[in-house]
Amino acid sequence: MADSQKKLTIIKPDDWHLHLRDHNALRTTVPFACRGFGRGIIMPNLVPPVVTVDLAIKYKQRILANIPDSSSWSPLMVLFLTDLTSPEEIYKAHDSKAIFGAKLYPAGATTNSETGVTDLRKLTKTFEAMEEVGMVLQIHGESTEKGVDIFDREPVFIEKTLKPLVEKFPELKISLEHITTLDSVEYIMNQSDTVYGSITPQHLLFNRNDMLVGGIRPHLFCLPILKRERHQQSLIKAATSGNKKFFLGTDSAPHSKDKKENACGCAGCYSHLSAIELYAEIFDQLNSLDQLENFASKNGPDFYGLPYNDSFITLKKHKWTIPSSIKYMDTTLVPLGADMQLNWQLVQ
Ligand SMILES: [Zn+2]
Repeated sequence: MADSQKKLTIIKPDDWHLHLRDHNALRTTVPFACRGFGRGIIMPNLVPPVVTVDLAIKYKQRILANIPDSSSWSPLMVLFLTDLTSPEEIYKAHDSKAIFGAKLYPAGATTNSETGVTDLRKLTKTFEAMEEVGMVLQIHGESTEKGVDIFDREPVFIEKTLKPLVEKFPELKISLEHITTLDSVEYIMNQSDTVYGSITPQHLLFNRNDMLVGGIRPHLFCLPILKRERHQQSLIKAATSGNKKFFLGTDSAPHSKDKKENACGCAGCYSHLSAIELYAEIFDQLNSLDQLENFASKNGPDFYGLPYNDSFITLKKHKWTIPSSIKYMDTTLVPLGADMQLNWQLVQ
């Protein structure tokens, strides 16, 4: 693995949670999604959302048209669950071999989730079908109940929604996405082998002080929102520990600069300019680079029941600076960690 502390070669990682948007945006987002990754779980919260197998397959075609010739990256599609998603649609998704999960957004939890699920009881038969075929349920784990403080939405969701769901469907494979709290880390560690969690680079690298002390930094605003330092520390420990229940999911999500630097700024961090290096930075700080391959390249495929990628990537120890911005359609986009100096760089 580590060659005189200067190089690190690992099985090619996958990104188990990312947003590409659609149409012209794909010209930017797809090539960056391929950078350093073998596969990506594509979030379905488009406008309108990807609620059927047919829509997912059409979306996949638009994505495939933007993959650079040199890349072997592949998109793994996901259905957007609504109150009306039928068990038949789940069977169809399973048979399509193109769909690798169904995403539960509590209605209104984040960007373009207004038509998400309002009442889990309406999906009993749908979850039973998912259990039967072994399809992963990806969850945005935040309560949207009125009056719940934004910093408490994840633990409230675990108590009121996730615990009863796991009890009712003990065989359902659940990926609790972009976890942000000690509560989620402990919950996942104490569950059986059906519940895993993905962790973003922003929740490992930053906490709410980074976002709010000395001025508000809109490019660090994402949902679930950054939490206290003790939560950040619990995520770092979970990711770098080698525990198989935690894996890489960037939640990379593009919003143009003007929509972030705005009186009502959008939530989301775009990390695909330097995603694997941002993770490497944290693992290096914890002297845990030997665990990066498990977190980035093995735990995810093991959970999804997929083979590891059959190629490798190499990171070299080399200082470089993340660009301040890039062109994005007819506007610009500020990446996560803009102007930050990194110690590791992907060898392209
Ligand atoms: Zn997301």
